[in-house]
Parts: sequence; C-alpha cells; structure tokens
Amino acid sequence: MQNRIYKAISAVVMTVVVILGLIFMMISYNLYSREAKNTLISAANTALLSTTDPKELYDILSQSLDYDVRITQITPDGKVLYDSAADSITDNHSDRPEISEAFSSGSGTAERYSETMSSRTYYYAVRCGDDVIRFSRRTGGIFTLFVGAIPFFLAAGGLVMVIAVLVSDKLSESIVKPVRKMIQSMDVFGTDETDYSEFEQYEELEPMCRLITKMRGEIKEYISNLSAEKNTISLITANMTEGMILIDRNDDIISINRSAADLVNPIFPCESGRNIIEFCRNSDFLELVDQSRKAASVTGTFSAEGRFLRAFISRIDSSDKISGAVIIIVDETEIHLAEEMRRDFSANVSHELKTPLTTVRGFAEMIGGGMITDPEDTKKYGKRIYDEATRLLNVINDIIRLSEIEEKKAEIFTSVNLLEIADDVAESLKEKADSLNVQLSVTGEDLSVPASRGYIYEMIYNLTENAVKYNRPDGKVLVDISRAGDKAVITVADNGIGIPKEHQSRIFERFYRVDKSHSKQTGGTGLGLSIVKHIAALHQGTISLESDYGKGTVFTVMLPV
Ligand code: ADP
Repeated sequence: MQNRIYKAISAVVMTVVVILGLIFMMISYNLYSREAKNTLISAANTALLSTTDPKELYDILSQSLDYDVRITQITPDGKVLYDSAADSITDNHSDRPEISEAFSSGSGTAERYSETMSSRTYYYAVRCGDDVIRFSRRTGGIFTLFVGAIPFFLAAGGLVMVIAVLVSDKLSESIVKPVRKMIQSMDVFGTDETDYSEFEQYEELEPMCRLITKMRGEIKEYISNLSAEKNTISLITANMTEGMILIDRNDDIISINRSAADLVNPIFPCESGRNIIEFCRNSDFLELVDQSRKAASVTGTFSAEGRFLRAFISRIDSSDKISGAVIIIVDETEIHLAEEMRRDFSANVSHELKTPLTTVRGFAEMIGGGMITDPEDTKKYGKRIYDEATRLLNVINDIIRLSEIEEKKAEIFTSVNLLEIADDVAESLKEKADSLNVQLSVTGEDLSVPASRGYIYEMIYNLTENAVKYNRPDGKVLVDISRAGDKAVITVADNGIGIPKEHQSRIFERFYRVDKSHSKQTGGTGLGLSIVKHIAALHQGTISLESDYGKGTVFTVMLPV
C-alpha cells in the first residue's frame, strides 16, 4: 500500500513539475519576445529621430544594439530600394501586412518566417516620406536562447523531483503508519482492547477499526466456544475406558484416544495421519473395518495383547458419500473369562457331583441286587457309600458357600481379634494334626480388624487345614498374626509337600487341585482356596503364596486394619 501511495505521489509531483516547467517556459518566452519587440521599436524610433536614411539607420542600430538588425526601404508600389541583408530583392513587398499597414496608418508590425533571414522574424515598419522603412530582427534567437536554457530547467526539475521523491516517501509512510498501527493493535488473538484515541485523528479509519474490533470479538468468542467444545470432547475421550478411533474414508486415523492404544497396541503413538493397518494388523479387526463400508454399523470381536475385545464400527456418511467411521473398542476380557469360568464351573460341578453319585449308585445297586451277601462286604460298601455321600455333601456345601460369598457385596463387620480366631482354629484342628503327626502352633500379636468373624474363621481354617493336610509326618504348621503399616498380616506356613511352580497361579481356581487323588483322599473339594480368595476380597484384602516344591508353602493374607 505504501509503495502504491509513494508511486502515486511521485507521479503527481512529476506531472506537476513538467506542466509548471512548460508553463514557466511559455510565459518567459512571451515576456522575452514582447520585450524584444519593444526594444526594436524604441531603438528604431530613436534612430529615426536623427535620420531617415536606411544605410545610416543601419549603422546606428548595428552599433547600439547587441543583436542583428535588418533595415529595408520599400517604395509605395512595393519595390525594395534598399535592404541591409540582401543586395537586390526583386519581389514586390506591397502585400506584406506590416508594409501595407505602415502605408495606411504610419506604422505596422508583423511576425513570420523570413526566407531572406532563414528564421522566424519580427518586423516593424514606419512610413518615412513616400517610402516605408522596415526594421527586422530574428525571434528565432530568443527561441534558441530558451532551448539553451532547457538543461537548466531539467537540472532544476530533477532537483525538485528528488525532493519530491523524498517527501513522497515520508508522506506515504506517514499515511500508512496509522493503518499499520491499527492492524498491529488489533491482534485478533490478543486480550487487550483497542485504544481508539490513537485513531481519532483519522476519522475515515475509525468505522473500519470498530468493525474489525467487533469482528475480532465475534471471532474470539467463536474460537473460545470451539476450543471449549474441543476440550470437553478431548476430556471425554481421554477419560473413556473404551477405545475410540475416528478414521477417514482412506482408513487414515483422524483421532485416537489413549485407551484405544492401551487396549490394542500400547506402543502406538496417539497421533493422526497414520493408517489403521499400522495401528492393528489383526485380521478379524481389519475385516470388521472393511465390512463397515457395506453396512451402516458392524460389531465383532477380536483379540489383541491377550485381551478379548469387541469393536463397534459406525460408518459416517456425508451427502451420500462415505466420509469415515467411528470405532469404539470395549474390553470384554473379564466378561469372556467369567463366561469361560462359568462354563468350566458347570462342567466341573457336574463332574464333581456325578463321580460320587455314580459310585453310590453302583454300590447301592450291588447291595440291592443281592450281589453282596457277606456281612463284612456289606459293611465295607456301606462305608464307601457313606464316604462318597459325605464328599458329595461337602462339595454341595462348598458350592453353596462360595456362591453365598460371591453374592455378598458388603457385610456388616465387627471388630474381630485375629489371634483369638487363629487359636480357635488350631484348637479344632489339633486332633487332625496330631493324627497326622503334624505340629501346629500359633504366634503373633493380639490384633483386631473390622471383619466378619465367621468368614475370617473359615479363611484361617481352610488355610491351616490345607497346611496340615498337605504335610508330612513330623511336619510343622505355624499360624502367625502380625501388623505391617495399616495392614494386618496373617501367614500360614508349613514345611509340607509344597506346590510346583506351574500350579501356583492356578490353585485359587475352583476345583483346581495339584494332586487330585491326594486331595480326594483327604476329603478335599478343590474349592477351599477359592473360598479363601473370595473372603479376602470381601474384606478388601489380598492373598499371595510362596512355595518351594518339596520344602513347604507360606500363604499370606493382608487385611486392612
Ligand atoms: P482341596 O479341597 O483340594 O484342598 P483347595 O482349594 O483348598 O482344595 O486347594 C487346592 C489345591 O491346592 C489342593 O488340592 C492342593 O493340591 C494345593 N494346596 C493347597 N494348600 C496347600 C499346601 N499348604 N501345601 C501344598 N499344597 C496345597
């Protein structure tokens, strides 16, 4: 803008300088030319006072004037009697305007090109007696004089131009300065309000300034609304446990939240622009993405990172064209495992119940069919039926117990003394421990926790009974109660048979036993540790174990105090 103003001012100044120069030259030329004519007339009139002889007049004027003068004497019939510039002139001069004017009114003037003088010439004719004496001078000389002055005019014009350029530079800068300042002060994203006092002197700019400020306010509000909405959406998606991915029609990721990466590909950088295939190469998932082009929404499962995931894909259409899709990924691992566990549990329950029942039915059939006649055998099979029925009852009791604990989300807790319970458990297991020749002892602090006494008793009982059961003659079992920070620690340690490493992670599963026959022999149901784990969880506690196969096992339960 400044450049254009600068150019415009320079052009105007140049034009003005040229026009003024020409006007000045024309006025000067006119003044000079008039002066030159007047000088000739007054010199001629003065000389005519002393003589009318043309030769003498020529001599006088040649000496007194600093330019060439031509004297011509013409008779009334137009003949040239004398001419100082030519020896003989034959053509008739009566038609010359200055001559005819002099003959009629005493004097005459004219200006035209002269063939004789080869120049533009000014004539002054005076009637002297019968003849006319004509004085002439070249005016071309004046013109030449002006031509000679042109370089000076150009130099002066150039100087004026330089000054004009400098001035227009400053002028354009000073015109543009307030506009520039206004633009700077109108920082659309800035927080300061515009100070109008600066622009009061430029009243043309003020409406524009106010309009821009108004628009700036609207833009700011619009941007802040947009960013607030964006923040809300980012906050929602960032805190979603579900994965969320937005893809375009080329399957390039537009947006992805952290949960999606955590569930499917934890090392994937959550940034836009990457293709979905870089995010997940699972064929089931990619197949779903592909299907979403044909259906408005698709859902299906796939697995990644050891998880069972479900993807819900909804196509986004804009003006009948597919413009992308939203993918929601939900972690269904727990549901899947629970379902698996439920299936396993049903299978296990039926197996656990069917086995003793088949045995009972077999023996009962034998006795009922009269196949066993010996009273000793009858006693023996009767005991087997009793044992199997007892085991059946134990399994059923444990299943009922387990589902009771599972369903109990909260229990009214009272202050329960752990050492007292451990002593009670030891007391009731003393006989069994003695029979197996296992030494059972209880140590520790007199520590109370908020808990359900019945459940805590059952938990310590199951752990201690296992420690006695899965022991060896002369083995030892130690139940200890201690405190670690804000936790009560119950440890049940034995130096019994131990649990092989590969079984350690599974022994809390329902019906899981390391040695099935040993467990059954000792009347185990395979549900004891499951019950223990659920009781610990019900009390917001944890259970862990350390075991060396052949050396012994330590179970540790931590409960909040
Ligand atoms: P069970 O009724 O068979 O004892 P549990 O759930 O109580 O069932 O225990 C599961 C399995 O864990 C047992 O069958 C046994 O193999 C193993 N186990 C539990 N406690 C001990 C222990 N103290 N020492 C060795 N093995 C143990």
